[in-house]
Amino acid sequence: MTTTAQQVLLKQRPVGLTDEQTWEYVSTELPALEDGEFLIKVDYLSMDPAMRGWLNDVRSYVPPVQIGAVMRAFGIGTVTESRHEQFAVGETVMGIFGATDHVISTGKDVTRADLAVAAAPTWLGTLGMPGMTAYFGLLEVGKVTSGDTVVVSGAAGAVGSVVGQIAKAKGATVIGIAGGPQKCQWLTETLGFDAAIDYKNESVSRRLREIAPTGINVFFDNVGGEILDAALANLTLGARVVICGGISAYNESKLPPGPSRYMSLLVFRATMTGFLVFDFEDRYPEAVTQMSSWLEDGTLIPREQVVEGGIAAFGDALQLLFTGGNTGKLVLRV
Ligand code: NDP
Repeated sequence: MTTTAQQVLLKQRPVGLTDEQTWEYVSTELPALEDGEFLIKVDYLSMDPAMRGWLNDVRSYVPPVQIGAVMRAFGIGTVTESRHEQFAVGETVMGIFGATDHVISTGKDVTRADLAVAAAPTWLGTLGMPGMTAYFGLLEVGKVTSGDTVVVSGAAGAVGSVVGQIAKAKGATVIGIAGGPQKCQWLTETLGFDAAIDYKNESVSRRLREIAPTGINVFFDNVGGEILDAALANLTLGARVVICGGISAYNESKLPPGPSRYMSLLVFRATMTGFLVFDFEDRYPEAVTQMSSWLEDGTLIPREQVVEGGIAAFGDALQLLFTGGNTGKLVLRV
């Protein structure tokens, strides 16, 4: 039996934000399975800010997506046909399946997800790549300890919301920076952050000086630009700055100026460390075990925003990440 896959191809490299010229939506007939292969019906796609970077023809930690290729995307799905000894029909699997509703796999780099532990979207969020990013970025790079003041930018997003919750569990005082009063209210009232700064309506520098008068021990940065500078200006001795992302510049054609407050690193003998979650891949199982138990005992509150509309809604869904249209982990239901 053959299957027709609905796919999103990269048509044209964007300048600035992606738009309808960026993508081509196609139907592709998949070949019949060979021995050692299985067919996956993709149930949800993970929408990630990194996708914007993967479209640029530059040297990075992964090669750029090629023009005419299926867009790279993480997904979770169900095995619907199998000629593979280790993957049976009905199993839930995760991997880099691409922006498609069906994919044929040999099992390479495919892992299993237990839906009894968490729902599929949570496996792309708190128990997925963003959750792993928060866990290893905060604990291994940020080296958070009890009593620290932790500030996280992009705080109401997939990574940031988990960073803040883990920091609270470790006994830190947590300040989130996010866009808009609703997101800030969610951080303090639902997730238990100690304070939140609405960078769209408040001065981040001034508010940090007020709320964290003794300075920041850990700054977990997802945003870069002016927010990074405001945090650098408020460090304390021995601070750790975790460079996880810099979404404020992802759609810029011109490189942003470097952080103008970098001399704070000298003054406060602080470190600023670039970090990539994939370096911790062999330790994901340890993090999943810990995070699952935190989900079960309520230490972590997961949140996903599910966009409907299937593969055809891919382009619009991606935009939400850059307009602040998501709270928690953004996924597309396929
Ligand atoms: P989010 O769920 O946080 O979504 C993106 C959020 O970024 C938006 O909701 C918006 O929130 C905020 N944002 C968008 N544009 C701007 C801007 N110009 N200035 C300030 N904030 C902006 O995404 P993720 O949690 O998946 O990713 C967060 C960051 O972590 C990204 O930078 C990503 O690249 C990085 N990352 C890094 C990894 C690594 O290994 N180093 C792995 C995974 C993610 P708001 O409404 O608050 O503006």
